[in-house]
Amino acid sequence: MPDLFEQIEMPGFSPAYDPKTKYGYTNPHYKRNLKELLNKTSEGFCMYCYVTVAADGKLWGHLEHSIEKTNSKYLTECIPNIGWTCPVCNDIFKKYKEKERKLSQKDITIFERKIKCSSNRCTKACAKYKNLKNKYLRQENAQIILQPNGVKGFDTGFELKIQYNVQNGWFEPSAFQGEYSEQERQFIEKHINRFHLNDEAYRTNALITFFEDVIEGEGHIVRTPENNMVVRVFKKRLEGLERQDVLRICKKLYTYYMVKLKA
Ligand SMILES: [Zn+2]
Ligand SMILES: [Zn+2]
Repeated sequence: MPDLFEQIEMPGFSPAYDPKTKYGYTNPHYKRNLKELLNKTSEGFCMYCYVTVAADGKLWGHLEHSIEKTNSKYLTECIPNIGWTCPVCNDIFKKYKEKERKLSQKDITIFERKIKCSSNRCTKACAKYKNLKNKYLRQENAQIILQPNGVKGFDTGFELKIQYNVQNGWFEPSAFQGEYSEQERQFIEKHINRFHLNDEAYRTNALITFFEDVIEGEGHIVRTPENNMVVRVFKKRLEGLERQDVLRICKKLYTYYMVKLKA
């Protein structure tokens, strides 16, 4: 079993759509509803890079079409095809080599033929959509753990998930789901690279700041701004622990960072 404090598995995002609420992309009211629900689902963080997208009562995330809506008009209002991301993930990282994973006309024709889509009333992925997603993910440059609802490994069927390795200060394939196949690991690693999760310029330092604050506060979990979801998930692990244990754990993990920084 992986260490619960040293390896932090990032959650998947499965929205609980309310049957009485209307969601959509084009209509501003339905769009607002969708944004609020997805923001609640991700607890205010980007579903791809985990940076905060809600601050001071404002939502500055973007609705992001998993399978790009340029592929088919039916994808624009397809609710399970819409995730919640920061502007950088939506406008830049996700778009990278988008043309190279454009679905073939044949796949689109199959998808659209006899489609029974009630657009913004569809909150469950239909068989047509699932089939299309499956084809999409097998293309070049489509190694993306699409959100919401994620992606299951083609070989093992395990949920493809990411963990934050606190010792090393980087993201990597999760050790909590079971043994991924080599191809599945590569898929996850390509996702991590696409969203620059480990890049010097983009990687998160939020947890280091959190450790420093806890150590300074002698084990009190202070109200550090949660710039990254890693901090939120880590804090949940600490819930119910005595102050002395919190301090001990944070000190230990902070030492790992310092050793790594000096190395
Ligand atoms: Zn992002
Ligand atoms: Zn539909």
